[in-house]
Amino acid sequence: MVPTLVFGWLYWRELVRDYDAELAAVPEDAEDAARRIVAGMRHRLDRLLEEEGERPFHQYGQIFSAVDAMGDEVSILPSPLVNGPRPQGILGWFSFDLGETATEVDFFFGAGRQKSDELLQSLTLTLSDFRDRKAKEGLLERLSQLEGSASPFPLSAVSVHRSFKSELLSCVVECSPHMVGRTLPVFTSELHSQFFRRADGTPVAIVSRRILAKPNKGDLPPEADCLRPLLEDGFTTQQGIVVDVDWLLRRLPFEVAAQTLGESQELISLNPAQPIKEAPTVFAHILPVVAMGFEVEAPGDEDFGRLDVAINTDNIRLRFEKQSKRFMGVALMMVLTMAAGMALLYRSVNRELEQAHRMQNFVAAVTHELRTPLSTIRLHGEMLLEGWASDPKVQREYYSRIVRETNRLSTLVENVLQKSRLKESVVEAQPGDLNRVIEALKPNLQAPEGGSADLSFELEAGPRALITSEAVSGILSNLVENARKYAPVSPGGEPIQIRTREEGETVLLEVADRGPGVPAEERERIFDAFYRIGSEATRTTTGTGLGLHLVALHAESVGARASVENRSGGGSVFRIAFLKAV
Ligand code: ADP
Repeated sequence: MVPTLVFGWLYWRELVRDYDAELAAVPEDAEDAARRIVAGMRHRLDRLLEEEGERPFHQYGQIFSAVDAMGDEVSILPSPLVNGPRPQGILGWFSFDLGETATEVDFFFGAGRQKSDELLQSLTLTLSDFRDRKAKEGLLERLSQLEGSASPFPLSAVSVHRSFKSELLSCVVECSPHMVGRTLPVFTSELHSQFFRRADGTPVAIVSRRILAKPNKGDLPPEADCLRPLLEDGFTTQQGIVVDVDWLLRRLPFEVAAQTLGESQELISLNPAQPIKEAPTVFAHILPVVAMGFEVEAPGDEDFGRLDVAINTDNIRLRFEKQSKRFMGVALMMVLTMAAGMALLYRSVNRELEQAHRMQNFVAAVTHELRTPLSTIRLHGEMLLEGWASDPKVQREYYSRIVRETNRLSTLVENVLQKSRLKESVVEAQPGDLNRVIEALKPNLQAPEGGSADLSFELEAGPRALITSEAVSGILSNLVENARKYAPVSPGGEPIQIRTREEGETVLLEVADRGPGVPAEERERIFDAFYRIGSEATRTTTGTGLGLHLVALHAESVGARASVENRSGGGSVFRIAFLKAV
């Protein structure tokens, strides 16, 4: 029992500890989930920008020339920005020159894409805003983006790129044989991500780079004079992509969240239009603009599109409650089982103790029952042998005592044998007349001292009952013997009554006396084997506790029931209810 209790307590403590630890880990879990989402978003964006970063600058036009074009001819191809697929997350590509005078911005939307007027208008606004910002950049800012060194770029490709907006393309084609093997130093800056709000508040995310070409003296062939206005002064171009803000700050994070978040985790955008659920939650914040590496112009914009990972702690609590309930159920069952076990153990130990006590009493009683007649027999036998009793009357008295005591001994032995015989044998009860059997038994009911004046019979005429004469005889002799022993009739006193009558489905045999009666708490047990009221040390009457047990066994053998109750006016009534024969 103690190990079970200790185990239960340890298990419970572990359960509570796990719950606390799980709750304590929730903020960290939320941070973790936020980190996973940012990493997932970053991965997608980086992949997109990596691909865009590898795109050569001269493809930002309606046409371009392959850098590896062979021979004297220039190859003129439609740009992939016009014809190629447009990756998810990109609204369009753009390019504009940063010169003394602001030039037009060129947009490219890729192939198969619907250019809605609305989008076009929005992009026009966005890019003219962006161009103005770039135009306002100071020299220092511009130079700061131009780190590293310029790389040589085929002159033919550069000139095709520059001529696509002018009428000089035919000149480029003409001069192409002279451009073979010639290059121009072209500087390409790193991609730079910027996030800002247009004048009307619309959020804009642009990733762009700067291209700077500055021909040295002699880079242009003398035969290609017509290229001079195009390239002699060099050029500075800003080109890049307009990122789809809705994709970047809304669709992408939720897509990533769907794949990375756990059961009770949820990504929410703290949008006033979207109320937070009532459940207890823990949050971790994501500032996607900053997390995606965008440079923010206005400090307030850092918070733009802020997202939160919410963890619903209700689930943890509910799980804990479920586990505790299950634990309590099991604990209750175990306690009940243990209590029942203890009760059964207590009962069985008690029964064993009682049985042992009864056996002890029986042995003491039998020893006494044997010793008394044996010593009487021996004493009288010796006296007769020694010739102490010469008077024939006295001798007769002695002989009769010896015979009486011998009878007592055989009754005792007979009783013990009868008990085991009755337990084992099966008796076939027969319909019989109970009164007739009792009448026949009357001579056997004489007291040892002679006579049966202490008995009175009230045998009412009744129907036949299921009996055997052996059972009726065993029952009656034991009950009468007990009545004489425990409720002896004093001279002139009320005799012991033996009566029969019919009651319901039974025929009753009752033996009623005016003795001390049987206490209520002993009424069941006196029919047990070897059970005697009180203890052997204090009892004055002799006996072995077998008499009433034999009565009960005889009754059972014919399907009858033995019981006892107090008699009104004092004494007890022993009753045997025989079944009526049908
Ligand atoms: P025994 O007579 O050998 O003690 P029994 O089985 O006959 O054993 O009786 C069991 C107990 O029931 C007796 O010890 C006695 O205390 C009680 N008892 C039996 N008959 C009577 C009776 N007629 N009146 C009062 N007590 C009785």
